[in-house]
Amino acid sequence: MSDFKDPAAADRDDPGGPPEFNLQDGLSLALSYLEDPSNVPCPHCGPGTIEVVAFLDAPSMEHGTAVPTNPDGDYTVVLYCHRCGRAAALDLSRDEGTGDRDAA
Ligand SMILES: [Zn+2]
Repeated sequence: MSDFKDPAAADRDDPGGPPEFNLQDGLSLALSYLEDPSNVPCPHCGPGTIEVVAFLDAPSMEHGTAVPTNPDGDYTVVLYCHRCGRAAALDLSRDEGTGDRDAA
């Protein structure tokens, strides 16, 4: 009587699931985006495949809500690669005053 597979179990640890950008990819994407938002190459596929899907309100994201916003102030940019199907949400909140300024 227990021949049914648990459908919920199939969603966990599925090696055939959609690929994701890893942390290093995300950093590469963020740097490329900051350099030129209109020209962000995919770390896996090269240039010309990434599309900016949306800008989301960063504070709302922290609460699990996706609220579209303008690319101004605290925002998260959502990038999608049309070739490999990876998506990335980059928190590009402005943090002025930080950085690696050499005081010496
Ligand atoms: Zn790609």
